[in-house]
Amino acid sequence: MPMWTCEFEPCKRPSVRTIGECVLCSRRLCSVHLQREYHHCPRWEDAEKYDPLAGEAEERELTALIGRVNTAALTARATQLRGGVPCSVPPLRYDRATRSSVMGGMNYHIIITFEDGIRWIARIRRLNSTSPPPVLRDYIVRSEVATLQFLERTSVPAPKVLDYALEGDGSPVGVGYILMEMLPGKSLRWAPQSQPAQKKIMDQLADIFIELSNYPFQHLGSLDLPGDLHVGPFARESLTDFDGPEMHAIGPLSSVEEYHTCWLRLILDLILREEMYSQRPLDAYLIHRFLLDLVPSVLPASAQEEKAFYLKHADDKGDHILVDDDLNITGIIDWEWAHTAPAAHAFNSPIAFLPVAHFYNGANTLGDEEVAFAEMLDAKGRGDLAGYVRSGRLQHRFAFCCGYDLEDWDGFLGLFRGLRDAVGVDDGLDWDEWKSRALDRYSEDSGLQTLLSREQTPVTSNGV
Ligand SMILES: [Zn+2]
Ligand SMILES: [Zn+2]
Repeated sequence: MPMWTCEFEPCKRPSVRTIGECVLCSRRLCSVHLQREYHHCPRWEDAEKYDPLAGEAEERELTALIGRVNTAALTARATQLRGGVPCSVPPLRYDRATRSSVMGGMNYHIIITFEDGIRWIARIRRLNSTSPPPVLRDYIVRSEVATLQFLERTSVPAPKVLDYALEGDGSPVGVGYILMEMLPGKSLRWAPQSQPAQKKIMDQLADIFIELSNYPFQHLGSLDLPGDLHVGPFARESLTDFDGPEMHAIGPLSSVEEYHTCWLRLILDLILREEMYSQRPLDAYLIHRFLLDLVPSVLPASAQEEKAFYLKHADDKGDHILVDDDLNITGIIDWEWAHTAPAAHAFNSPIAFLPVAHFYNGANTLGDEEVAFAEMLDAKGRGDLAGYVRSGRLQHRFAFCCGYDLEDWDGFLGLFRGLRDAVGVDDGLDWDEWKSRALDRYSEDSGLQTLLSREQTPVTSNGV
């Protein structure tokens, strides 16, 4: 059983992850029914048609979500937790003008204001066709709570959790939520900052890395028990398989080799089951089959002897950092999907510091910001962490290539060429040359044979 089945009645084929999830018509579709013959919503590339419809879909989604929130129950709970201090929330309604201040890609935020001026945030999971099933949504929330509670033990600035409820537990508020303190400051936009400003922020981030390096874990996975340091399976849909209602998330694991191997095997399985990359199955299979062979070549030098793993933010592109007007970091937020990782991944340069154009062009030299960050770690006496940044390019490349959104095909080609150059395997080949070599190399692979035979027997025009 797949994560979701097709919602084109009466089809029951597996819905395709990512490309089969249409927010416009709010359906999840299989490899057949997402094709133009059956599915007529404009594609995102056609911004003129897509954007207004996406705006309307978002309004419908958020209006429905807001409609489920029992604000009286939410404020009563907050007042109870504060020992009777009254509080209020603004009237909840979807407003396009202020949308970005109250929501991100996956969550909607309600601001609770107490009479004494203290403010809290209720973080609520958004629900649309890209959302994972309820059991996984709850697991991700639970893991974020456990992660934030772990951070309270450290000096890393992060919001303090005050309460939480899971959807599956029948919360009186009507939705699952995390209640957390509201930190001062604004989300950082990294690229437009001046060089001195970037240095000031990097310096503080280096201290945060050093702090996190003081808390080794024994397993790879996500914190999963609030109030406990237990590491369980990864809390992330891309690392989760389903067997009917039963969820099979990868982990916890004890080596980075196992991590890469389990993830790549899951991707290969999902391709064969038409749950992933259904528009480009053969290319996607060859790429990930090749990545599986590359695993021994991309293991960090220290991975074999080190059995310690460290907390890593899963989306460190800059806006996860809150800063005040003087660029002091007031908090690191959005810990959804956080997981433990080997030091070479956990302390590699944040994605925000990558020289984007060069990186996507396949260049493997470090960018100025990565170099500056490594120097800063050196100056703080942490040559070990600086070393992870300096040797980080290969780790970034491999991580980007695994499960990459192949709709961005040109972007992928640069990433993939850079990866092959970095490991010195099939380097210098263009895509067509590489593909014909890969077809030959994996000609005995049973998965590849299945895909090739499927290409010769296309699905009939009635879609079954
Ligand atoms: Zn649609
Ligand atoms: Zn279908």
